[in-house]
Amino acid sequence: MSSFTPSLDRLIEQFAKLPSVGKKSAQRLAFHILSMTDAEANAFTETINKARSSIKRCEICCNLTDTKVCTICSSQSRDKSVICVVEDPRDVIAIERTHEYNGLYHVLHGAISPMNDINPEDICIKELLTRLNDDVKEVIMATNPTVEGEATSMYISKLIKHLGVRVSRLAYGVPVGADLEYADEFTLIRAIEGRKDL
Ligand code: ZN
Repeated sequence: MSSFTPSLDRLIEQFAKLPSVGKKSAQRLAFHILSMTDAEANAFTETINKARSSIKRCEICCNLTDTKVCTICSSQSRDKSVICVVEDPRDVIAIERTHEYNGLYHVLHGAISPMNDINPEDICIKELLTRLNDDVKEVIMATNPTVEGEATSMYISKLIKHLGVRVSRLAYGVPVGADLEYADEFTLIRAIEGRKDL
């Protein structure tokens, strides 16, 4: 039984639901919230609410954005002939950090996983297909090097290869079984340079 009052228990429980937050950290965060001034606490909750209501998916690439079309899709300096397909918005940030890639992105928001009942129609594949016009010369599959990521990559490549678009895959450098977002810049640079046709 907890020695805290029920409201505090509930607050701790909410923090404990966050990724990488254990029971001790959850308690620390809850007590920190209680020690805030009203103004600080209100600013915090308002920021959460505003982020949740204003952040949506870019109409073109499905990346998260505050505007209809994200800054990368609306940029005049990006190479519109290449689309790099990733599973997660955090992968875009990871690749942008390398400063080695100047094309566009497409965020799938997941990977095909029959085990978890995630089918092709559950991720943003049809949105990618509608983007493949004459301007697009290459699609780089940068899904995670996991079973699901590989399966997703193969599935998409089969769909678009006959359209005459070059399809490549991040090759070496990214450790197998790891998440792309955790790879360092140099690993990602090698992976982008070493991509190969599917
Ligand atoms: Zn976009």
